Amino acid sequence: MSAVTAMPPAETVATRPVLEGRDLSKRFWVRRGRGPMTRKASLRAVEGVSISLEAGRVTAVVGESGSGKTTVARMLARIIAPDSGQLLLDGEPVSRRRSKRYASQVQMVFQDPFASLNPVHRVRYHLMRPLRIHHMVDQDIDTAVAELLQRVALTPAGQFIDKFPHELSGGQRQRVAIARALAVRPRVLLADEPVSMLDVSVRLGLLNLLADLRDREHMAILYVTHDIASARYLADRIVVMYAGQVIESAPSVSLTDHPAHPYTQLLLSAAPDPDRVARPKLAGSGAPPSLLAPPSGCRFHPRCPHAMEICTRVAPPSVDIGSDHTAACWLQVDDARRGVPEIETQASDPQADGNLTKFSAGGTGG
Ligand code: SF4
Repeated sequence: MSAVTAMPPAETVATRPVLEGRDLSKRFWVRRGRGPMTRKASLRAVEGVSISLEAGRVTAVVGESGSGKTTVARMLARIIAPDSGQLLLDGEPVSRRRSKRYASQVQMVFQDPFASLNPVHRVRYHLMRPLRIHHMVDQDIDTAVAELLQRVALTPAGQFIDKFPHELSGGQRQRVAIARALAVRPRVLLADEPVSMLDVSVRLGLLNLLADLRDREHMAILYVTHDIASARYLADRIVVMYAGQVIESAPSVSLTDHPAHPYTQLLLSAAPDPDRVARPKLAGSGAPPSLLAPPSGCRFHPRCPHAMEICTRVAPPSVDIGSDHTAACWLQVDDARRGVPEIETQASDPQADGNLTKFSAGGTGG
């Protein structure tokens, strides 16, 4: 999708976030080696990420595979618990126990529409079930199901209500999955790569459906994607993640027109753009690092064409570069600050595992 076909961001008034994640971190334990040499190793999937979702706004989290973006979405959905950090719903801390109230406020749509619907049940069953569990039916249940199908533009509803998932196209299946999430009248929708498994020809329709839910129903939407062009098309704000950390965050037009971090520039240079005459010159190469042993300092430094000596040793702070735009890169820090002795001291302390969190507190993540 072209970055130049951007949809104008919705006109919204800044409001208190509906859902916030503050300083979220998550490690997974994995086995390495074989037989008696087997040992457990810690995979640092997400570190110090903060993100906020507001009513009537789409926030996109963009990054390559393994950047931690899906883990952030799953923590916000409370499918997995963060090791540290806090979730707030309407400004109130969320308890550690999963509750029906939270599930009715925050719903998630998964990447694979083939796997997310039980193949032995018809569309009617998939939509009736959440309506009944959450006592959402104050009318004839078939009417309620038909209304849900209409909200996701599967009309006439009678054509779809008695179909099995295998009788639907990928795009139609994903619309049913979204309708199922809408059944409990959530205020927050977490969409994890909702179009990446669909034909290119139907992706735009799904993105427009999400935009419609934002604009007409004032939902707070998280859009997780590896495609920065689609993020610019849909989102009001973009948060870029690399190797488990937020490296840049800004309103989507500002971030895509004036990317500050070399990794964001790399993502943009790789995005297809039919209006671009010359082939993009990729400012960087290589693959994302292993999160079992991430690089010291800036995690992007092995791939960065601008890497300096300090980048290999000290994680850059997240700095405000204006207009609600933050980036974690030493290029954005003035020369004097690059040499601040306290920073050098903390980074050289082997116990200071928290130095990344301290300096890259993640921008606002939103
Ligand atoms: Fe490149 Fe250094 Fe900036 Fe990291 S901190 S992106 S290595 S210039």
